[in-house]
Amino acid sequence: MFELTILVDFAAAHCIPDYPGKCQRLHGHNWKVEVSVQGDKLDNLGMLVDFSELKRRVNMVLETLDHHYLNEIESFRQVNPTAENIACYIYEQLEKDFSTLETISVSKVTVWESLHSAASYKKLSI
Ligand SMILES: [Zn+2]
Repeated sequence: MFELTILVDFAAAHCIPDYPGKCQRLHGHNWKVEVSVQGDKLDNLGMLVDFSELKRRVNMVLETLDHHYLNEIESFRQVNPTAENIACYIYEQLEKDFSTLETISVSKVTVWESLHSAASYKKLSI
């Protein structure tokens, strides 16, 4: 099994209503996003997937978040836009996008909201 990871970023504002601290107030982050994909078949160039193709697909998802007030996005009306829920959102959007590809699948999405704090989402393998 091969696993590829790319690192991309976006900037956005959010707040966590009812949080007992300063994150309750509107503020922004430069979020770093690590996306890992996996598969066991390489193409004739010896690649699982071209890094630029992977970045293009991930950036299409990040376009829906970049420079937005995350609390106003439909997907975050029922759940708070925490690093955990953002990681899950990106994972699920990519999973939909990758459903047409037979050779690779998303394995993990990690969202860093600061240099020292990150949340990851992945599905348990059956
Ligand atoms: Zn925050």
